[in-house]
Amino acid sequence: MTDVLIIGAGPAGLAAAIYVQRAGKKALLLEEYSYGGQIINTPEIENYPGIAKISGFDFATNLYQQAINLGAELVFEKAVEIEDKNDKKIVKGSQGNLYEAKAVIIATGAKNRHLGINKEEELIGRGISYCATCDGAFFKGKDVAVNGGGNTALSDALFLSDYCNKVYLIHRRDEFRGEAGNLEALRKKDNVEFILNSSVSSLLGEEKLEGLELTHKLTGEKRQIKVSGLFVAIGQEPANEDFKNVTDLDKAGYIFAGEDMRTKTAGIFTAGDCRTKEVRQLTTAASDGAVAALMACEYCNKNA
Ligand code: NAP
Repeated sequence: MTDVLIIGAGPAGLAAAIYVQRAGKKALLLEEYSYGGQIINTPEIENYPGIAKISGFDFATNLYQQAINLGAELVFEKAVEIEDKNDKKIVKGSQGNLYEAKAVIIATGAKNRHLGINKEEELIGRGISYCATCDGAFFKGKDVAVNGGGNTALSDALFLSDYCNKVYLIHRRDEFRGEAGNLEALRKKDNVEFILNSSVSSLLGEEKLEGLELTHKLTGEKRQIKVSGLFVAIGQEPANEDFKNVTDLDKAGYIFAGEDMRTKTAGIFTAGDCRTKEVRQLTTAASDGAVAALMACEYCNKNA
């Protein structure tokens, strides 16, 4: 039996693990893929207080090392079910293992949203990517497109513009959600073309991506552009369906929780991008993790 089982080893989960260990309790992290969550794919982080500039990979690795050095344990297995037995929680893993904990923190983050258009799934790895840092190098000297208007799209387009021949930035509106600083930097690039009020309506090419058909949102006009890569950066969606027996989910699938990170089940907390909140940032994920950890430790003490 562990004290606090944390589902997800992204910034929220790892921050929680650090706080649990420093509170003298035992943290066990369950992670499906790799530590670090989405931030591991961010080329540069420049808005984390106290760190002027760091790559997402280095940030995630530092966070992971800090948690492990403090004694947290990480197991690679997807959590697929939580059973509430009042005095203890039983978490079932995808490989059939059962984990017992006094308290649980759900910090599953969110997954990349797909466009949901024809051939998208078939062309993943053959021109379609959801991660510029991971796959950008394959497109050196080529023409590529980035779809989206948030910080991910802007930083991906900036990153790609350094070594791709041309970068089209396609966005469905004419205003961006992403930071003005990134937008300004992009506007100064000679090889970046903005295509606004437009959506990707078709993917061209059979064996690999060869181009895109774009539809203008206001006029309905269609045009085609030739690209060998499309980086889809249209936001994330939560993946909390497995935990809806012990939590309440909003319409979009986020776990209802306030600033105390409590879910509807005593002893089950949540943290980071997977919960209902206004601002999803690295700083707010880390903050959620700290709060959830302290609340979970308090719960463990009261129910010892
Ligand atoms: P986001 O902020 O949710 O932006 C998603 C973008 O995709 C929006 O511009 C949205 O358009 C567009 N979009 C959504 N669904 C679409 C669809 N079906 N078709 C076409 N376009 C669609 O997502 P994000 O950029 O991944 O960022 C997520 C969070 O992480 C944000 O809080 C962001 O600030 C943060 N982040 C931070 C950093 C950093 O701090 N360094 C880096 C990356 C991300 P509309 O604007 O029209 O809704």
